[in-house]
Amino acid sequence: MNISIIGTGYVGLPAGAGLASHGHNVTCVDIDEEKVEEINRGRCPIYEDGLPELLEEVVSNRQLKATTDTIDAVKNADVIFLAVGTPMENEGDITLDYIRQASKDVANGLEQKEGYGVVVVKSTVVPTTTEEEVIPLLEESGKKARKDFGVCMNPEFLREGTALDDFLNPDRIVIGELDNKSGDLVEKIYSDFDAPLMRTGLKEAELIKYASNSLLATKISFINEIGNLCKELGIDVYEVADGIGLDSRIERSFLDSGAGFGGSCFPKDVRALIKFSETQGEKTELLEKVIETNVKQKTKLVEQLEKEMKLKEKTIAVLGLSFKPKTDDIRQSPAINIISELKEKNVEVKAYDPKAVENMKEIHPDINYTDNYQHALKNSDAALIVTDWPEFNQINREDLKKMKRPLILEGRRMKYEVPKENTKGITWP
Ligand code: NAD
Repeated sequence: MNISIIGTGYVGLPAGAGLASHGHNVTCVDIDEEKVEEINRGRCPIYEDGLPELLEEVVSNRQLKATTDTIDAVKNADVIFLAVGTPMENEGDITLDYIRQASKDVANGLEQKEGYGVVVVKSTVVPTTTEEEVIPLLEESGKKARKDFGVCMNPEFLREGTALDDFLNPDRIVIGELDNKSGDLVEKIYSDFDAPLMRTGLKEAELIKYASNSLLATKISFINEIGNLCKELGIDVYEVADGIGLDSRIERSFLDSGAGFGGSCFPKDVRALIKFSETQGEKTELLEKVIETNVKQKTKLVEQLEKEMKLKEKTIAVLGLSFKPKTDDIRQSPAINIISELKEKNVEVKAYDPKAVENMKEIHPDINYTDNYQHALKNSDAALIVTDWPEFNQINREDLKKMKRPLILEGRRMKYEVPKENTKGITWP
């Protein structure tokens, strides 16, 4: 099938490469010319496990190409995915600016398109957006939804860090459809995927995405509350989580307590659901608390550090800047809040991350960045581990000897072999 994907970011690119590897002809569209050029050279503009190799392969065998020309990409496509960003605005609403612009761009293509195609919203959008925003803009082409083109909403559940694998091996595929004809065509794209496939309505599909992320975020804030209690009791929240997780009704996943959730999805999606519910006259008090708990959790490490030492003019190593390992994405990362707090307290920050330094420099240009964790630890008064990159598990006694005070506060659970008296967990001893 000929597939065009509008928006070639953390979702659009793994999806594009993944669909190309399933034999589809994929055109990735982006307004960012540099990104488009890089992709056409077979180079991957983001860091994601396995993606550079697959991208190189599908570009070189001409299964995938990139362009800035949306009209051309739409004219030749059977299915057009919208995968542009829907970032958070100040109050928690999502901005639909990119979705609206992309819908207008696609409408210009539809105007010139011969034959039927389906437009699929893959971006995360609040219920009613596809019906009330996207379809009217597409119909400005003079073409009619159902008759001239189809519409689906196919939420994406991939996680950054494992985006390609998640896209290729999803737990489920949800297709919200305007009508059967639209859904039938989109189902065909996934015919050789080994996953349960659910067909439903547009609004249902939109809400399934928000409800899923909100429930996962709720599990994290829940275990962080339990974790904070464990810390007071001097016991290990991971043992408690293991005990809870043995219950098949609960499951162990998303019960890893730590420095709070970040990323471009959980904080934004939970807030957007809260705001959207308000517009429907519903208050989602539980979700408000999920966010409140998470905001407090993000800077708990600094509070704990203050109990250990006076912070003024101390040097603190911050290890891990991305919101989770195996990604260079720092959006809503706890490290952003932690570095801000440390700067406010006149601390000299030495920060290191295997992949996210360049991104963090845009937010915190005025701290010291090091080339490896050893340089960050050297002469530091303490270290905070904010992201559990596997390489931090190699920290050893020799590294600790080079610190001014050999103290590591763990915001994530680590597996290194250093003396217990040198480490303290955020919610474990
Ligand atoms: P992103 O910001 O990484 O990528 C969006 C891309 O769209 C950018 O490259 C941008 O240049 C491009 N773009 C913007 N307007 C355009 C236009 N008119 N035409 C062509 N390209 C345009 O965003 P993302 O993280 O990939 O997220 C995309 C959507 O998927 C969001 O709604 C997000 O909530 C959702 N989502 C994200 C994840 C994730 O882990 N990042 C997971 C599931 C769902």
